[in-house]
Amino acid sequence: MKLFAIFGDPVSHSKSPLMHNMVFKNLHVNACYTRVHLKEGSKLRDTFLSLGLSGANVTVPHKESAYKVCDEIRGFAKKVGVVNTIVYENGKLIGYNTDADGFIFSIKEFDTIKKVLVLGAGGTAKALVQKFLDEGMEVTVLNRSATRLKDFSHLDVTCKTWENFEIAEYDLVVNTTSAGLSDNNLPAPQELISAILDHTRYVADAIYGKLTPFLQKAKEKNIPFKDGADMLLGQGVLANELFLEKQFSKESIQKEMQKAFLL
Ligand code: NDP
Repeated sequence: MKLFAIFGDPVSHSKSPLMHNMVFKNLHVNACYTRVHLKEGSKLRDTFLSLGLSGANVTVPHKESAYKVCDEIRGFAKKVGVVNTIVYENGKLIGYNTDADGFIFSIKEFDTIKKVLVLGAGGTAKALVQKFLDEGMEVTVLNRSATRLKDFSHLDVTCKTWENFEIAEYDLVVNTTSAGLSDNNLPAPQELISAILDHTRYVADAIYGKLTPFLQKAKEKNIPFKDGADMLLGQGVLANELFLEKQFSKESIQKEMQKAFLL
C-alpha cells in the first residue's frame, strides 16, 4: 500500500487526508493519506524517508523548507522557491507547487481582476504573487514586518508594511497570513483592515473551514468573499494527479474530493 501525508504545524485542521482518502477509497487505489505534526522544517526530509512515503503535501510554515529539502524542483515551484507537494520518484524527492493554480481556480467566479492586494509575505503569498504577475495583474504586498518583503524585491510589485501603507482601490484583497487560522486575529490592525475593505470589490482568504475575523468583516460590509476551500480543492486535485501519475482525470478526482467537504 502507498502511504501519503501532510506535514504542518498546526496540522490537525487539515482536510487534505479526508480529500485524498476519499479519492483513494472511491476510485479503488491501494493507498492511504495521513497527517504529520512537524515542528521543525529541517526534519522534513528525514521524516518523509523514514515513513516510507510515496508523496506528501506541506502546509504552514514549512513550504519554504520543503523547497530546500527536495532533490529536484519542477514547474512553477522553481520560479517561486516554495513547495507544497512532494513526490517520491526513483529514490528522489521531487518538489512541486500546486497552490497558485489552485487559487486561480478558486477565483474563477470573480469577474476581471486587475489590481490585487496580498496580505502576508510568507510561502503562500510568494506563490500567489508570482501567479498574479504571470496573469498580468498589478500587485501590492502588505506585511506586518519588513523582513519577508525583501523576498519580493526582485519582482515588479509594491511592498508595504502597516506603517507606510496608503489606501488605494483594489479589485481583490487576499489574506495569505495565518492570522485567524488558530486564533481570532485580523491580518492587520482593525482600522487598517476596515479602510482596505472599503476600497475593494472582492475578498478572499487562504484559510478554510471557518469564517475568519477578516472574512467576518467583509461579510458585515457586504463584499463578495471566498474562504480557502476552493483553493484547497484546486491544489488537492493537482497534487493527487501528481501522486497517482495522472491515473484519473481532473474531473473524477474533483468529484470525489468534493465529497470530503460535505462531511
Ligand atoms: P507562512 O508561515 O509562510 O507565512 C505567514 C505570514 O503570515 C507571514 O507573512 C506573517 O508575517 C503573517 N502573519 C502570521 N501571523 C500574523 C498575524 N497575527 N498578523 C499579521 N500577519 C501575520 O505561512 P503560509 O504562507 O504557508 O500559510 C499562510 C496561510 O495560508 C495559512 O493559514 C495556511 O493554512 C493558508 N493556506 C491555505 C491553503 C489552501 O489550500 N486553502 C494553501 C496554502 C496555505 P511576518 O512576516 O510579519 O511574520
